[in-house]
Amino acid sequence: MRFPLALSAKIAGHIVKHKVKRTPKFAMVLQLEPLHTCNLTCTGCGRIREYSTNLKDMVPLEKCLAVARECEAPMVSICGGEPLIYPKIEELIAGLLEQGRVLYICTNGVFMRKKMRDYLAAVYSPALEPKLAKLLETKLISEKEAETIRKSDEAARKKTVIRPTKWMYWNVHVDGLEFTHDLIVEREGVFKECVEAIKMAKIIGYQVATNTTVYKETDVQEIEDMFKYLSSLEVDGHTISPGYEYDAAKKDMVKRLGKQPEDFFLTRKMTRQKFAKIQDWGKAFTIFGTPVYQEFLAGKRELTCTAWAIPTYNVKGWKAPCYLMTDGHYDGYQEMLAKVNWEKYGVVDGIARDPRCENCMVHCGYDPSGALGTNYKSGDNWKNFSYNFGTKPKPYPFTPVLAERAFNGVSIGKGHLSQAKAAINSPRAAMNGAQAAFSRKEEAHDHASGGSCGSGDSTQRDELLAKIAESKKS
Ligand code: SF4
Ligand code: SF4
Repeated sequence: MRFPLALSAKIAGHIVKHKVKRTPKFAMVLQLEPLHTCNLTCTGCGRIREYSTNLKDMVPLEKCLAVARECEAPMVSICGGEPLIYPKIEELIAGLLEQGRVLYICTNGVFMRKKMRDYLAAVYSPALEPKLAKLLETKLISEKEAETIRKSDEAARKKTVIRPTKWMYWNVHVDGLEFTHDLIVEREGVFKECVEAIKMAKIIGYQVATNTTVYKETDVQEIEDMFKYLSSLEVDGHTISPGYEYDAAKKDMVKRLGKQPEDFFLTRKMTRQKFAKIQDWGKAFTIFGTPVYQEFLAGKRELTCTAWAIPTYNVKGWKAPCYLMTDGHYDGYQEMLAKVNWEKYGVVDGIARDPRCENCMVHCGYDPSGALGTNYKSGDNWKNFSYNFGTKPKPYPFTPVLAERAFNGVSIGKGHLSQAKAAINSPRAAMNGAQAAFSRKEEAHDHASGGSCGSGDSTQRDELLAKIAESKKS
């Protein structure tokens, strides 16, 4: 089966229950942001700029558990910021699992190995030695770390830890192969760490997914190569979504300067071009989401946004109307459902109800639409059923060439701090303002609101990638 039976059955049961009850709007996935603190400062990340990143500003553990109970979403995606920084992350995961939720821990991967070592120390017995031997052989833990695991004390054994379970996925943020990914997260070595964390998780027995955002400058072939490589590591599933951006100023420029929208941002047309092969990818790789959403991305049909089905809760409350745009925060999920005028948002039959929605085709607005049967067409239910309950694609065969292609950055001396920085310092790039774009991370937190891992405001990333590509041509 493409996805574990228990998980698919749980989600299908939730939809059927609400259809029978004729509930007009209900939650499918809770995007829970217990904090916005992060160890990285990715280009264009809105979360670390829109919200306070002070560790004092966190959603208390009990509140996190209460909001999950309140909205009753069968799936919870714990995001942020970097959720592994949340001091009670282990207790949060344990509490949500106790509630029977399917969990996705959206992480940049940097702290994953530490959390998995904590787990190994908590459960260590000689029976674990073959796994430790494999982790040592593949250099995923050091001899010193293995000794710490073996000699775990009472405190380490009593610690609440993140255990492998079929109800939980690590969901690792990967936006491309090494060069691109490290460039976007603005730190060399992060891609390599993600890969090592994924390998370690698979050896121990965790489920692992990845989430990727496609930007205007994203090379489609690179995304396919990334899927092949991740599949060869036996990653269990992938979320992929087009980047989102809106900017009233750009609309103004279109009007005043007569430029075309595609000069500035990922339009619907461009998204459809980038995702032309999504249905083939869906057959070859374990892409999460419905085939109906894939048809939408490929430009084969229209869908209406159902952002209310993937609500976001964070330090300020229930965020409306969606994960990406903020027009207000509410104290309760039902209150948000009742008070927001949902008819103001989304694109219907190609017409944007809100100009900010015009080019949005993101996963968190439209994937639930595919599952919930908005814009239903005959055969959709069977399509979704046979996709989710169908045969899981086999892992792509691992080859050294695949790995060589993946590690195309700092591992071979072409990190963004060397090659890319040299490129953007070229006279032509300087003329184009690339240096300014690259230095933007030094600026104060003054950016417009956007998303976080995997679905943020893509303006800056597109600009940066475009300028580097341009400077390489010179
Ligand atoms: S169309 Fe996109 S930006 Fe608009 S409300 Fe839906 S998810 Fe949010
Ligand atoms: S995109 Fe994710 S990893 Fe990057 S700074 Fe934002 S929250 Fe952190």
